[in-house]
Amino acid sequence: MTRDTRDVIVIGAGAAGLTAAQSVAEHGLSVRLIDEQASAGGQIWRNAAVVTQLGGPLAKSYDGAAAALLGLQDALIDHATSATVLDVALSQSPNTAKDAPVCVTWLSAAHGDRGIRETAARALIIATGALERPVLFPGATLPGVMGVGAVQSMLKQSGLVPTENGVVLAGQGPLLLLTMAQILDHGGSVAAVIDLGQNRLADVVFGLVPALLSDPAIMVQGAALLWRARRSGVIWHRHVTGLRAMGDGGIEQVAFETGGKTVHLPCSLLAVHDGVIANTQLTRLLALDHHWSDTQQAFAARVTPEGRTSAPSVWVAGDGAGIAGAEVARLRGALAGLDVAQALGALAEPDLRTRADPLKKRVARRAPARALIDRLFAPLPVIAFARGEAADSTLVCRCEAVTLARIHEAIRDGATGPNRVKTFTRCGMGACQGRICGNALTRIVAEATQSAPQDAGALRIRPPLKPTLISDYLEVSPKDEPTS
Ligand SMILES: Cc1cc2nc3c(=O)[nH]c(=O)nc-3n(C[C@H](O)[C@H](O)[C@H](O)COP(=O)(O)OP(=O)(O)OC[C@H]3O[C@@H](n4cnc5c(N)ncnc54)[C@H](O)[C@@H]3O)c2cc1C
Repeated sequence: MTRDTRDVIVIGAGAAGLTAAQSVAEHGLSVRLIDEQASAGGQIWRNAAVVTQLGGPLAKSYDGAAAALLGLQDALIDHATSATVLDVALSQSPNTAKDAPVCVTWLSAAHGDRGIRETAARALIIATGALERPVLFPGATLPGVMGVGAVQSMLKQSGLVPTENGVVLAGQGPLLLLTMAQILDHGGSVAAVIDLGQNRLADVVFGLVPALLSDPAIMVQGAALLWRARRSGVIWHRHVTGLRAMGDGGIEQVAFETGGKTVHLPCSLLAVHDGVIANTQLTRLLALDHHWSDTQQAFAARVTPEGRTSAPSVWVAGDGAGIAGAEVARLRGALAGLDVAQALGALAEPDLRTRADPLKKRVARRAPARALIDRLFAPLPVIAFARGEAADSTLVCRCEAVTLARIHEAIRDGATGPNRVKTFTRCGMGACQGRICGNALTRIVAEATQSAPQDAGALRIRPPLKPTLISDYLEVSPKDEPTS
């Protein structure tokens, strides 16, 4: 196993991680930047180098990418691509300024350089972004049903768009509208939109003016997406209940109720979405303090405006500390980087304040716009689309095939928290490590036990964070392994 040491480790090379690494490096500190994608950019600027070079409709949403990626040329930033963090350990070093209390274990899957690595550092910035909120309904695990984010990732990664039969989009949120526009701009087809949102006119009326003043660009972008959707001629189904996907070995049709009628649509690709939530896998692994957001119906690490956490050598920046969008992720990344530089003795306290205060003001200014978005697209109920038997048989944990009924049974048998439910049912014990079901499980337990989600708690996370080959730990190539 290869081991090395840097001043700072940044995990995640999205909007937040890139600016964090840059702010740290410009103060003369060395940075190991680790990201599992093959190139920097995170979700919003996925595959940036190729997309910006090719131009085309996607490139216009990659405006900030070039400047952010330029920062990577700093010789003090060592960017590991195709590199997945599997584990993080913290020693109780009292002196972050001198010692290296952080140790990150990561898997390099880079071509010709595969293997487990360890990097030690004086400070860690976690910028691992967001995950799509799980959308649970009957038939959600059929092949051909996926998250809207996954469809968008395919589009950004390989230019693939659904054309034959089109894609049916179901759910709500800005990413659904954005992906719809991106599919159409690329000559793909959207067969229908099943709108599951419960938009209230009052929210728009009362929140619009402060939101417009706080972040006019994002509001204009939202209005343009709504206009694009309206002009597209795509059939829009509203006031929908009872969504279900049906098919034999893969989705063949989607059904739902609207206006007192049952509608059946032929469908070979259903993309669902209900917003995004903070990715807390690493912050949970480190047992940092978390708080439950009622508006986002999700946990996020508890951080100061500078990204400081409950562990002295760990900072969190970007959507991983609560969903606030790409521009705020960028600002929070810079704030965390500056704060780390100050904590490690590379930036004087007064200089930190001069640099950080304007950034904090810019973050605060955007809050009303975020509040409007959160209210407009308030999360759907956890099992939004089914009742009775259909709800009971809905899979919550797809890795271990655990249904809602099985979770309720475990709760009746005395499992009062997500970790007890996991012991009773294996919910959250599969390959995804609870990334997909964890948020839903907290909400189900809280509802069934009539407790606050903060008290119900969340799944404990164990390393390795992602499924890993034993051969990687043994440092042998899979073909060398004995077969019997
Ligand atoms: C699927 C999806 C698509 C999105 N698309 C858009 C969009 O088109 N436009 C928009 O405005 N917002 C989009 N968002 C919201 C967007 O993520 C944020 O607003 C913004 O990009 C957040 O920046 P960030 O740096 O916090 O996180 P991200 O940009 O998500 O970057 C996080 C990075 O951490 C890496 N990472 C995570 N875990 C590990 C690990 N264990 N090891 C190594 N690396 C790891 C990821 O590979 C990723 O590159 C999307 C969100 C999701 C979940």
